[in-house]
Amino acid sequence: MRRPRGTKGKPIQDQVARDVAPPRAVPIVISGPRTAGGAMPSSGPLVDSFGRVHTDLRISVTDRCNLRCVYCMPEEGVSWMPRSAILTFEEIERVASVAHELGVDSVRLTGGEPLVRAGITDLVARIGRIGFSDLSMTSNGTGLARLAPALVAAGLKRVNISCDSLRPERFAEVRRRGNLSSVIEAMDAVEQAGLPPVKINVVVIAGINDDEIVDLAAFGRDTGRVVRFIEFMPLDADESWEREKVVAGEEILRRINAVWPLEPASERASDPAPADRYRYADGRGEVGVITSVSRAFCGTCNRLRLTADGAIRNCLFANGEHPVRDLLRSGGDDAELAMVFRRAVWAKRAGHGINDPAFLRPTRSMSMIGG
Ligand code: SAM
Repeated sequence: MRRPRGTKGKPIQDQVARDVAPPRAVPIVISGPRTAGGAMPSSGPLVDSFGRVHTDLRISVTDRCNLRCVYCMPEEGVSWMPRSAILTFEEIERVASVAHELGVDSVRLTGGEPLVRAGITDLVARIGRIGFSDLSMTSNGTGLARLAPALVAAGLKRVNISCDSLRPERFAEVRRRGNLSSVIEAMDAVEQAGLPPVKINVVVIAGINDDEIVDLAAFGRDTGRVVRFIEFMPLDADESWEREKVVAGEEILRRINAVWPLEPASERASDPAPADRYRYADGRGEVGVITSVSRAFCGTCNRLRLTADGAIRNCLFANGEHPVRDLLRSGGDDAELAMVFRRAVWAKRAGHGINDPAFLRPTRSMSMIGG
């Protein structure tokens, strides 16, 4: 069969294989602080010492989860944070309001599993009233089919659902609890409730589910959902992460591109989103790769995190935190809270350092930080 030809007479497949060459690497070390010699600003946007402006806040509403995914939580013996340590809805709302005042315009609720927090719909409504331009959630999908209409009515605008396999037995092995059908049902329910097609988060682990990359991509193409393949990061509670278990985004794209040619759809150098997006050349949607390990994208990072127990983190991999809970509970005012945000942002390092020989895993694993 003759292969279709692209411009300059080259077969489209070859041309795209070249064009799709993985996203341009963004050096982790930013070329010297733009604010060199300057002091931490006490007004204006949340800017760090490298000039990165922070507008995105991930709020973990609980460390609890009903699943035990191998790449995230231990199978047994989880010790939850005491309830008294967890921020109340009023406290979360207050921190979110201060963040909004400081220029944060996008909030994602996560966990643990956000849906296991009783009254989550009420929290969505409270945060929805603050006026963020985007309010989204990352969920494992269990229980979401039932809650989707109420969450949408409360102001939720987008949902990402984690789903690492389309094979029921493998799903059970990876997630150790729950079942695939309830997750697929959740995807349908979210869309029927009026939200845009869900994004599907897939953590790819070599030898575990990497043989499903093309099947998962096909599922995205067939359903109009964007699948985002995430490189396995050293944040699992079992500490079983090894570099050999990471399937690089470049390899993921190579495998998909061999079946359905891809074209870049985002520009890493300017896009703060964690996923590098690619569109299918035949117009059947998009796919994303999150290359936290193989090609860090810290240079454009605009994200901050609030843990369930009230610590602001400037990076998933940070070893330091900036607690606000005691301040909230001892009558601290909004100006003081704002200063904690500013200090947290100002203390942000140029990059996460996973690939530095001196890298130390954070003491919290993913479910205790909020992914
Ligand atoms: N419970 C929700 C869920 O399952 O999506 C939200 C919390 S979960 C910690 C958020 C995201 O982090 C999920 O997409 C999950 O797949 C991802 N994640 C967890 N551990 C990870 C790891 N070690 N490496 C890469 N991604 C991870």
